[in-house]
Amino acid sequence: MSNIAKNYNRRKISFKYGKGSYLFSTDGKKYLDFVQGIAVNSLGHANPKLIKAINNQSKKLWHVSNSFVIPEGERLAKKLANKTFADYVIFQNSGAEATEAAIKVARRYFFSIGKPKKNRILCIKNSFHGRTLAAIYASGSKKMTEGFGPKIQGFDHFEFGNHKSLNKKIKKNTAAIMIETILGEGGIKVIPDWCLKELRKICTKKKILLIMDEVQCGIGRSGDFFAFERSKIKPDIVPIAKGIGGGFPIGAVLMNKKVAAGMIAGTHGSTFGGNPLAMAVGNSVIDIISNKKFLNNVKSISEYFLLNLNNIRIKYPKIIKQIRGRGLLIGIQLHKNQNNFIKKLTENKLLTIRAAENVVRVLPPLNVKKIEINQALKIINKVCSEMQ
Ligand SMILES: *Cc1c(COP(=O)(O)O)cnc(C)c1O
Repeated sequence: MSNIAKNYNRRKISFKYGKGSYLFSTDGKKYLDFVQGIAVNSLGHANPKLIKAINNQSKKLWHVSNSFVIPEGERLAKKLANKTFADYVIFQNSGAEATEAAIKVARRYFFSIGKPKKNRILCIKNSFHGRTLAAIYASGSKKMTEGFGPKIQGFDHFEFGNHKSLNKKIKKNTAAIMIETILGEGGIKVIPDWCLKELRKICTKKKILLIMDEVQCGIGRSGDFFAFERSKIKPDIVPIAKGIGGGFPIGAVLMNKKVAAGMIAGTHGSTFGGNPLAMAVGNSVIDIISNKKFLNNVKSISEYFLLNLNNIRIKYPKIIKQIRGRGLLIGIQLHKNQNNFIKKLTENKLLTIRAAENVVRVLPPLNVKKIEINQALKIINKVCSEMQ
């Protein structure tokens, strides 16, 4: 009997080790891993540069309190500020902590300018911002909040794509709109650039803050460093996590100067957030991913993958409904049962993971090789041909 609580529906496979795009199971099988810890291992398994970074740091210093200056964190924050809209960064350990910190930053900003009643956060219904109490109520999902009452107040919701409802839901006490640039758990739903531009205009006009949750779609996953960059907009607050640690737990909230002014000493903290060991890995990850050549390669391999996935869709229109996504954040929306499809892919040694709306999520590492994409395409094609 397992002594781990049953809050996960676990697949009955375990792994001994990983290398790049591959995982090797305890029963001696080799899998092409297009889950990568759910968009976490952005540079694949056992990346030599990340191993070197963590090994070197592990011999020097693991952890010190945030009541001291941490040079490794200063360096990472400077890189994030130089490469993005952000002026300031607070480091955390996970995505949910980062989205919660984003909410705190937004509320604190309005508090600091004498408008404490302006504190409600407007989110997309059935989105995903993590599993802490505030984050589940931010999601507006019945499934995630059921049984966890009393309800955490302060969140309003609008339907994805319903611009009329979005405008109507912005009230005098709305502080911020918080959305994922590409909805990950929600089924790889891309918000078009023109919508993002409109959204920025609305927020500026109504003097409310724009929070873009880039926990899943950020750090190169979309082919740009941040997914919102393509639309040329600048948000006010951006929570990140997943890809920034390459497998080491790191979260962060990025913000501009204006909103950061509210976060004076004592307003927020984290024991582990931004410790030297985490920051050493984060620095190594960002040095590789923020390189233009690296990102261009993500874009070109994505183009190749999406084109060929669409060819498979055209060949099997009764199985595949739509290919979604951008960069290497890809969803295959099915007509057929998603769990069955994922099981068949697994039997053929390709690992993928589900998302909402009957979508199979395909998340290769960002440094995936073309021959590995070809191998995945062959398996997907085979499963389609067997299922028709
Ligand atoms: C995964 C995810 C989170 C939560 O991250 P955790 O590290 O699991 O807390 C928040 N927002 C988005 C968009 C995510 O994909």
